[in-house]
Amino acid sequence: MKSLCVGLRFGFHIGDIRVIRGYVRFLLFLTLASNAFGSGLGSYANLVMADSPGAARNGVRVTYLGTNGYQFEFGGHALFVDPYFSRVDLLSVALGSRIEPNLSRIDDGLCQFAPNPDAILVTHGHFDHLLDVPVVMAKTRGRLIASASSVDLAKRAGASSGDAVRPGDVRRIGPWKIQVLPATHDRLFGKVPFDQPHSQTGAPQCAADWFCGEPLAFLIEVNGQRIYVDSGGTPAQLPPNDRVDLAIVGVALPDSRARLHAALERLQPRYVLPSHQDNFFRPLSAGFQFGPLTDFPRVQRECAQQNGGHLILLDYFRTWTLPKAAGSKSQSPNPKQRVKSQLGNGRQNQAPRS
Ligand SMILES: [Zn+2]
Repeated sequence: MKSLCVGLRFGFHIGDIRVIRGYVRFLLFLTLASNAFGSGLGSYANLVMADSPGAARNGVRVTYLGTNGYQFEFGGHALFVDPYFSRVDLLSVALGSRIEPNLSRIDDGLCQFAPNPDAILVTHGHFDHLLDVPVVMAKTRGRLIASASSVDLAKRAGASSGDAVRPGDVRRIGPWKIQVLPATHDRLFGKVPFDQPHSQTGAPQCAADWFCGEPLAFLIEVNGQRIYVDSGGTPAQLPPNDRVDLAIVGVALPDSRARLHAALERLQPRYVLPSHQDNFFRPLSAGFQFGPLTDFPRVQRECAQQNGGHLILLDYFRTWTLPKAAGSKSQSPNPKQRVKSQLGNGRQNQAPRS
């Protein structure tokens, strides 16, 4: 689909307008349906992890910020991934209206987090990943690590700097070792939404201006533990054959769910945290609600069938400390799994290996 913003600026053919009207109607229907029938985390309370009050603050702490946003903390250091607090409403996105960061929502979110993260990792340039980053950078002085196109977008939106990375790059900052990995973006109606820029200059105005660019995933090592994080993907690009302690895998759309089995086969995670499955058009204050295009029961089935690690969920702003693995197996590569993959076998162990 052509970008709505471009269409509104330069005009569409009649057929395009019909497609857009249908698209908007479809999205509005989904929103109304999800508001009417969308469920929260209550049905899955047994999967929701959180530290108990007064728990020791050592270990690698994981806090979910909604959408695909996370804070990781260790030893007084912090790292952000895709921080997005503004939660622009669906109508503004669908109609190509001007969108901008919501400063009050950003302040509400940030007051709960480390004031000076070492870095802000961004998986791609869409508004629900990058829109708030220039403001978050200004307020925290966190260093942006993202693709060249996302760094350029962020700078056009006011960011003072940015570290443009490519798959294969490694950054060591504080206690963190960050490996940049290749990724793909899920398709919506057969196409990556807002995949290409329609303007190379000026500040981004509407959702379509926040174009995807090169999607990235990250492998974060800290405290002898390994965390993989992406925002979704397709079967065309899978994570590395490297065992991790925690796999944060986007599952927003059917493409992501189609590659979930294979992704978990390769990552052999101790814990699996499905991500980007909340309705991110609702404010964070409204609480977690599954998005209209998500299918958590299928995610559950995939994890159960493939013995894909211990499936967990996190609620907004409730911190969970990633348990240390017994022994050091989680820190080594995964030769056993490679053999199994070659033989076409699945995994043997279902229980979390902590
Ligand atoms: Zn996206």
